[in-house]
Amino acid sequence: MSDLFDDHFHDECGVVGVYGHPEASTITHLCLHALQHRGQESAGIVSFDGRNTVAHRAMGLVGDIFKGPVLDELKGHTAIGHVRYSTTGSSMLKNAQPFAIDYSRGALAVAHNGNLVNAGTLRYELENVGSIFQSTMDTEVIAHLIAKGEGNAEERVINALARVKGAYSLVFLTEDRIIAARDPRGWRPLILGKLDGAHVIASETCALDLIEGEYVRDIQPGEILVIDKHGLRSIFPFPKAAGAMCVFEYIYFARPDSRIFGEDCYPVRLAFGARLAQEHPVDADVVIAVPDSGSPATVGYAREAGIPMDIGLVRSHYMGRTFIEPAQTIRHFGVKLKLNPNTPVIAGKRVVLVDDSIVRGTTMRKIVTMIRKAGAKEIHVRISSPPVMWPCYYGIDTPTREELVASHQSVAETAKFIGADSLGYLSMEGLRTCLPRAADEFCYACFNGDYPDPPEEKTPVRQLHLFNATEDKGA
Ligand code: SF4
Repeated sequence: MSDLFDDHFHDECGVVGVYGHPEASTITHLCLHALQHRGQESAGIVSFDGRNTVAHRAMGLVGDIFKGPVLDELKGHTAIGHVRYSTTGSSMLKNAQPFAIDYSRGALAVAHNGNLVNAGTLRYELENVGSIFQSTMDTEVIAHLIAKGEGNAEERVINALARVKGAYSLVFLTEDRIIAARDPRGWRPLILGKLDGAHVIASETCALDLIEGEYVRDIQPGEILVIDKHGLRSIFPFPKAAGAMCVFEYIYFARPDSRIFGEDCYPVRLAFGARLAQEHPVDADVVIAVPDSGSPATVGYAREAGIPMDIGLVRSHYMGRTFIEPAQTIRHFGVKLKLNPNTPVIAGKRVVLVDDSIVRGTTMRKIVTMIRKAGAKEIHVRISSPPVMWPCYYGIDTPTREELVASHQSVAETAKFIGADSLGYLSMEGLRTCLPRAADEFCYACFNGDYPDPPEEKTPVRQLHLFNATEDKGA
């Protein structure tokens, strides 16, 4: 939830593609609804009606944007869609996706989850030879490279992607096909499904669950999948690279009911919680979650520790976009707009409070204060990931390094800062042990600073600034 009082990393985007369904845009809309957690700032759909592409993009939530008449306009058997967690400011709508162009070979639209680490360098080169950019998105660089390329659509896509570095799970729409692509390191998830003979591409399997589609398989790292009237064609044009799947998809980003990187997400979160209980046991009366993100790890912790789990914080689900740029009076109420302590569960108890991560620590500090005021005797905070110490350059909205509390404070100092009686993080080794696939296939850069594809020095790498603009710094 991309709101003011949510101190988490945020996934920037979710993508969808539908080929061969008479109601392609309606199916895309439903899939985007299921992927709303991957981006709540803007959403868009582009369909191809047999003659032209039709696009609708707007700021806001999927359910508010795509109402009856809008969807009726998005005709055709092919559509792609996108949800985005965007930056603030006037450039927002300009940066909403899918990005669509008409060029010498016809129509092209693209939806992107990820972030390129050499986009600045490529853009500089392209602008030097006359390209005029409409947005500040790295995705537009890919569109320009395709337009300037040679050959058929898939050759142009391959040649364009051969030049980019970093994270991409992409869905392209052309006049006669959909092309899905995942970067060779496999940073972001991308799956293939089926519905009534139509092919569906989506960021997560929860999109298929909603439309009652069938999961076929993951798009593989480095795979380019072409879907057209002849069926499916899979190409692996790039050299194999060491894996760098985002471990944070399992920790927080993905919906717990999704299958991520070929494995169910929920049992992984339970395992993180159980391991956390082994690594940081404590005598306590009750285990409570920071809802909803901390809930699965809390179940794992409580089961392993043999301490009852209860609902100690009640979350309001109705805090909408009204509060994204709040007045000072609203800031004053802080995290209470979103969470309220459930006093009968907390008063007089020794409480274990579980969440998935701490980014700045300011929100956790407020939650601890709130629970203390509700009468807790002791508060032991347990975090189901290692300390976050480095920013992400692969499609995640993160604050600068200086703002990450763990980058400049020890665990004991952070415990003091948030006001907890104790604080325990899952260890790196514990994290790696709980993963359902070989641990060296994952990216851990935000924990250890070991960037698989470092941002190019000369590239003016964009650090997203949503939190700078909106976070409540009054803690
Ligand atoms: S740096 Fe962290 S958030 Fe970014 S891709 Fe790697 S594991 Fe995921």
